[in-house]
Amino acid sequence: MPVDRRRLGAISRRLAKAYGTPPPPRHLPPIDELVLTVLSQHTSDTNRDRAYADLRRRFTTWDDVADAPLPALARAIRRGGLGPTKAVRIRAMLRGVRESGVTLDERTFTGMPDPKLWDTLVALPGVGPKTAACVLLFSLDRPYFPVDTHVHRVARRLGLVSPRAGAVAVQAEFQATVPPEQMYELHMNLIRHGRAVCVALRPRCSECVLATLCPRVGVTDAR
Ligand code: SF4
Repeated sequence: MPVDRRRLGAISRRLAKAYGTPPPPRHLPPIDELVLTVLSQHTSDTNRDRAYADLRRRFTTWDDVADAPLPALARAIRRGGLGPTKAVRIRAMLRGVRESGVTLDERTFTGMPDPKLWDTLVALPGVGPKTAACVLLFSLDRPYFPVDTHVHRVARRLGLVSPRAGAVAVQAEFQATVPPEQMYELHMNLIRHGRAVCVALRPRCSECVLATLCPRVGVTDAR
């Protein structure tokens, strides 16, 4: 089901009015952004950042990380939780980058055109469309629209997509619909809205700036 551009535009304008302009992206090197997405799984932003800082302190280069024994890698990132699992994922991902013929450094991926970079990223072990879009958008300012759990939930409740649509399908719909110059702001504002108002268990519909645009208003349990 294609996203209704006019409704999406109205939603985007209301969110922008409510939340203003989001802070600029981190613009970390793409490899750092990739590693951070693994470190962020099942933990808080604070613990993710601690684990990332520990990892960078412990290993000088990304090649060192790719070549590290798994126990040493797991120890380095243990403050982020699930160290052994994440160590396996990070090492496999970095080795995958090298096996694709790309050098691991600060400039990795920066000069690669969008379609080739997309194909390279989603071919890496453990990297799906959301992570690939995060790297393209946050590191390189490329027009890609990541759909995380918050965007997915809010989009379905608003009826922008089918209630049964999976996150990958929703991402493809948004990618085809959202104007490139609005992708970053809309992505950030939908996440903010999903965290603050359209929360998972009991959405605060009575406080919601999108209430008059939302088919779920009045539904007690708006899951
Ligand atoms: S009205 Fe309720 S369900 Fe609809 S977007 Fe707002 S918080 Fe979410």
